[in-house]
Amino acid sequence: MPYNIVVLGAGVSGLTTAYLLSQDPDNKITVLAKHMPGDYDIEYASPWAGANYMPVGKQGSNHQAWERDTWPALKKITEKYPEAGIHFLDALIYNRKKDQEKATGNWFSELVRPNPWYKDVVPNFMGLPKSQLGPDIDNGQKFTSVCINTAVYLPWLVGQCTKNGAVFKRAVFKHIADAAYAHHSGQKADVVVNCTGLSSKFLGGVLDEKLLPARGQIVVVRNDPGPMVSISGTDDGEDEALYMMTRAAGGGTILGGSYQKHNWDALPDPNLANRIMKRAVAIAPQLVKEGQGIEGLDIIRHSVGLRPLREGGPRIEKDLIDGVTVVHNYGHGGFGYQASFGCSEMAISLVKEALQNKTRAKL
Ligand code: FAD
Repeated sequence: MPYNIVVLGAGVSGLTTAYLLSQDPDNKITVLAKHMPGDYDIEYASPWAGANYMPVGKQGSNHQAWERDTWPALKKITEKYPEAGIHFLDALIYNRKKDQEKATGNWFSELVRPNPWYKDVVPNFMGLPKSQLGPDIDNGQKFTSVCINTAVYLPWLVGQCTKNGAVFKRAVFKHIADAAYAHHSGQKADVVVNCTGLSSKFLGGVLDEKLLPARGQIVVVRNDPGPMVSISGTDDGEDEALYMMTRAAGGGTILGGSYQKHNWDALPDPNLANRIMKRAVAIAPQLVKEGQGIEGLDIIRHSVGLRPLREGGPRIEKDLIDGVTVVHNYGHGGFGYQASFGCSEMAISLVKEALQNKTRAKL
């Protein structure tokens, strides 16, 4: 039995949900969005992400399960579809205990602890010997992760969905229920999947006050440091971060960053950019030629994105809004890629439940 499904939003959450849903030919899918891959806008988080797989979900939480369940899917795409713009890359993780009570230390607390749950998920996990750690580092580890070139991966997802028959249309909605009447069949959609990220704070019918931005500023450079690096915190302020990753397929190296809650500023702060570059060169001097400082960095651009953070975690649940069945899948903070398949699979199980209930009601 064919089902009409609208996916509202074309960031990594909407596209992953549409990609998985489109594998069932019974699902007739329309993806509607204000922004699509190729756009760069402060209202659209996905293009700005690094993006890599650095698990941060606390042991025993849904978040942990979403990240654990996403690794096999990212690994499979990396191995099977080189054109998707993802590659394997080693990751070096450093922990300073003194960062733990700070915003970034808290965000990374699971990532940096010795013996984390994800050691059994990612390949080649090993603790680093003290001799390989800087004087202020308490513990460190190394594993093989992935780094996603979002400028290649998001269009790849669009291509996969299109190949499976999904239809993409630009649209802007003031109220979530209106999206049900914009399915390409001309009929009302059986279900709308809400993947609007931070905009769910302002979207009629949703108006989720638990959403807030965690502002991330980055510098994209042509230099290549080799492995990815992340550390629990910096001495430059409790909402400043230090990480770097080189994207697949010529995507450049992302130098990060910041984690500034409630900060909506879309413009890069030049002073913060300076600190980001200085920290990066200090921890990975191989980024530049010997004897060089930040003048050795070859800058592609300065950027800002807003992570769609939500108090209490992402919202993945069923809802009925003005007679329209809605499944929410938003609020993924700084982990929208690394939890994308786990979250979308959970949303899809709710979509299936809703569709079965509708079928039963019709019989
Ligand atoms: P978005 O990408 O914001 O997409 C929302 C979609 O909804 C858009 O298409 C938009 O146009 C549409 N929309 C919204 N409102 C409406 C409306 N009213 N009508 C029509 N359409 C609408 N995550 C990781 O896993 N790993 C990383 O390394 C990583 N690094 C990051 C670095 C930075 C600097 C930033 C900013 C984020 C990072 N993230 C990372 C987090 C990740 O980018 C986000 O969690 C993810 O992109 C959220 O995706 P989304 O699809 O939910 O939302």
